[in-house]
Amino acid sequence: MSCIFCDIADKKIRSDIVYEDEQIVAFRDVNPQAPTHILVIPRKHISTINDIQEQDVGLIGRLIFVAKEIAYKEGCAANGYRLVMNCNNDGGQTVYHVHLHLLCGRWMTWPPG
Ligand code: AMP
Repeated sequence: MSCIFCDIADKKIRSDIVYEDEQIVAFRDVNPQAPTHILVIPRKHISTINDIQEQDVGLIGRLIFVAKEIAYKEGCAANGYRLVMNCNNDGGQTVYHVHLHLLCGRWMTWPPG
């Protein structure tokens, strides 16, 4: 099955990539919800949080580590930021390849909508 985020990771679809390594790619969200809105994804296709297996734990943990590194690079670390991972319909997931949203550059409200 085709997956837009796999295509972005494989550079079959253009995106504004801010970080990549052998396991992870990060790129700017096409519809930003904050001054800085970056998606951090594993190259491995995992559809939802529900599909994460025990062997993926290190990889998923690394998404957070990379998001933190990017937050520093974007100048957001000191003021703060929000990391979000939506799951399935009620969680607001629209792209079925797990991704961590890094949002920063403004004050975030709580609770989220
Ligand atoms: P979610 O609703 O959590 O599944 O988030 C999916 C995100 O992917 C949304 O914030 C979209 O704006 C973003 N998105 C969809 N297509 C692209 C694309 N081609 N390039 C960058 N971001 C995208």
